[in-house]
Amino acid sequence: MRNRYAVIGNPIEHSKSPQIHAAFAKQTGEKLVYERILGDLQYFERDVIRFFQQGGRGLNVTVPFKVRAWQLADMLGREAQFAEAVNTLLRMPDGSLRGENTDGIGLVRDLTINHHCLLNGSRILLLGAGGAAKGVAASLLEQEPAQLLIANRTSSSAQQLVQRLAGQGSVEWGGLEDLEGRQFDLIINATAAGLNAEIPAIPDGILAPGGWVYDLMYSSEPTAFVTWGRSQRAAKSLDGLGMLVEQAAESFFLWRGVRPETAPVIAILSAA
Ligand code: NDP
Repeated sequence: MRNRYAVIGNPIEHSKSPQIHAAFAKQTGEKLVYERILGDLQYFERDVIRFFQQGGRGLNVTVPFKVRAWQLADMLGREAQFAEAVNTLLRMPDGSLRGENTDGIGLVRDLTINHHCLLNGSRILLLGAGGAAKGVAASLLEQEPAQLLIANRTSSSAQQLVQRLAGQGSVEWGGLEDLEGRQFDLIINATAAGLNAEIPAIPDGILAPGGWVYDLMYSSEPTAFVTWGRSQRAAKSLDGLGMLVEQAAESFFLWRGVRPETAPVIAILSAA
């Protein structure tokens, strides 16, 4: 029987993970099947336990279950512990479940390896303080930017996130209204505003000349934030498709011990 993996979420039909992992498996010669599971909103934990009892080897977890997966895991990787959210579950040899969060490494690899963006020494603005922002904040700080400002519509959430990052590097918090007069080399949108084709209420002129814009959201059309980045004359205005593939590659590596090449898979998805 082939090793069984899946992504669980609700809704789940839209997920690109099966396509991505099928491409990784083909490329690396790993023998596995990867399915979609529509998680039950009430009985998510039962669905996960059943999947692993039936021989499943690993799960990706997506909206709205990442926090419940974090609560369910028997042990946590450092990133998942910090993010208080799990997007990857692995069954350990003793049957216990390990929870990991690969969003941060996915974003950093997309920026630094795929796009050659220098994070070290740069001024970074991270917009948002929800699950995605928590998942990427510590990884960004590890790159030792000159400055990391986390700004959120509800500024107290940004404050709480920054307090949890204490001692890990130079990081400050604020509300969106505090951004006037500041400038950043890289602006990352980790808010959910794009789901309604909106952008966060940020002032024009906060992107430094030659600066970059990155939207965690992705879409077949340019997202609202990518369009905003272009209007600000960003040197690059990128969406989160590369991050999606990179975080999947990290899950694949955790499960199989083999690191797939991401560039051809990003190219296939971009073309589609
Ligand atoms: P959450 O619901 O956890 O957080 C939402 C965040 O967005 C909060 O900070 C919220 O602010 C803010 N927000 C929502 N609407 C607005 C608005 N109109 N203006 C300003 N701020 C707003 O969502 P997630 O963190 O899970 O997801 C955020 C985005 O990241 C989604 O688009 C998701 O698709 C994307 N994502 C992409 C990944 C990838 O691999 N490319 C991986 C994970 C996420 P407040 O606190 O004030 O409510």
